[in-house]
Amino acid sequence: MDLSGVRCLVVGAGFWGATLAERIAAGLGQRVLVADRRGHPGGNCYSRKDEETGIEAHVYGTHVFHTKNARVWEYVNRFGGFSGYRHRVWTEHQGRVYPLPISLATLNSFYGLNLRPAEAAAFIAGEAARDGVREPSNLEEKAVSLLGRPLYEALIQGYTRKQWNRDPRELPPSIITRLPVRSSYNTDYFDDPWQGLPLDGYAALISRMLAHPLIDLCLGVSYADIAGQIPADCRVFYSGPVDELFRFSLGALEWRSLRFEWSVEPVADFQGCPVLNQADADIPFTRTHEFKHLHPERGPQGEKTLLAREYPLNFVPGGEPFYPVNTPANEALLAAYREKLRHFPRLTLGGRLGSYRYLDMDAAIEAALACFDALREEGPAGKPWRERP
Ligand SMILES: Cc1cc2nc3c(=O)[nH]c(=O)nc-3n(C[C@H](O)[C@H](O)[C@H](O)COP(=O)(O)OP(=O)(O)OC[C@H]3O[C@@H](n4cnc5c(N)ncnc54)[C@H](O)[C@@H]3O)c2cc1C
Repeated sequence: MDLSGVRCLVVGAGFWGATLAERIAAGLGQRVLVADRRGHPGGNCYSRKDEETGIEAHVYGTHVFHTKNARVWEYVNRFGGFSGYRHRVWTEHQGRVYPLPISLATLNSFYGLNLRPAEAAAFIAGEAARDGVREPSNLEEKAVSLLGRPLYEALIQGYTRKQWNRDPRELPPSIITRLPVRSSYNTDYFDDPWQGLPLDGYAALISRMLAHPLIDLCLGVSYADIAGQIPADCRVFYSGPVDELFRFSLGALEWRSLRFEWSVEPVADFQGCPVLNQADADIPFTRTHEFKHLHPERGPQGEKTLLAREYPLNFVPGGEPFYPVNTPANEALLAAYREKLRHFPRLTLGGRLGSYRYLDMDAAIEAALACFDALREEGPAGKPWRERP
């Protein structure tokens, strides 16, 4: 691959990379090369039609778009329409099913009560006070101090243990900042004013973002394959893992990974909802995705249904990094890598892998737009890049 003449390289064609590339091409009139090691654009948001059922499969797990950010919402809507889908999640514990996040419906069903909205907060506070945790020193204590022990042990403990492969008492309390308890029967998973799914799928939406004539997209190309040929005056925007960028010279950051087990079931509706969590530790998967429920506007979509069961995995080099493990040791390593980056002023790190943060799609786009704003001021070689009219 000949990179001579390339002045702007974006590594990773997920929402972060696609947003930056689109803005640089359409907003600044600059040619951009986008390289991704996968055989498709879209990063983890990628979806495709399942051949057997025709149902749109979210290849890396259910992705629902939701945001409070008007700029992000206006931006993504330039590339296609969104349905008005509102996400709802249920969790199974010892053969009974409860809505998540915890709402009045969950509380009343779990405790066999008929609390009114005004009674819910006091009830939960009473449950939480029973363990007397004042300053939580680990995830378990934090969750118990927010919810009380019965709900924690039923709905949080087993799921957390599976997700992180650690006892919740070994995890920092900071992993959960809050566990919302709604005092109403509202079972929406997200509160954001703008929510939905791309009407013709994520792959089509991201392909439209990358369709600008000044964008060259190279799939199946890893940064390591081309690093030696990048011209010295090229600006690089990198959304891969930072430890990999420096060839793990300071050590490897920890990630959690996932494996999806796919099946087609000979029933029109398997579980009655798009995502069903499995709260119990003795069931090895954490959730089952039933994708047809994400698009009620498409009708019944046949007599079969497509499922993916999600199994958490330890990350091994060469596997897929999904969730950062933000322990103090990993944060210290991240800071050391960031320090190294200061020697590379033409290299900008971002996205969920580069920042080593769990980012929702809107946060990845918001960060890319902020990066573009800074770039517009700064210019490729110290000169301002003038925005096209
Ligand atoms: C299971 C799961 C479910 C999620 N559900 C939701 C949801 O419902 N709603 C929501 O808003 N967000 C959700 N997210 C978060 C969402 O996936 C991220 O916000 C989004 O993927 C971030 O985009 P990104 O571009 O930063 O990263 P990515 O989508 O991961 O894209 C990074 C790209 O960089 C490429 N890459 C990495 N390293 C290299 C390299 N060295 N060389 C070349 N290419 C490289 C990768 O192949 C990848 O395509 C979920 C995440 C997970 C893990």
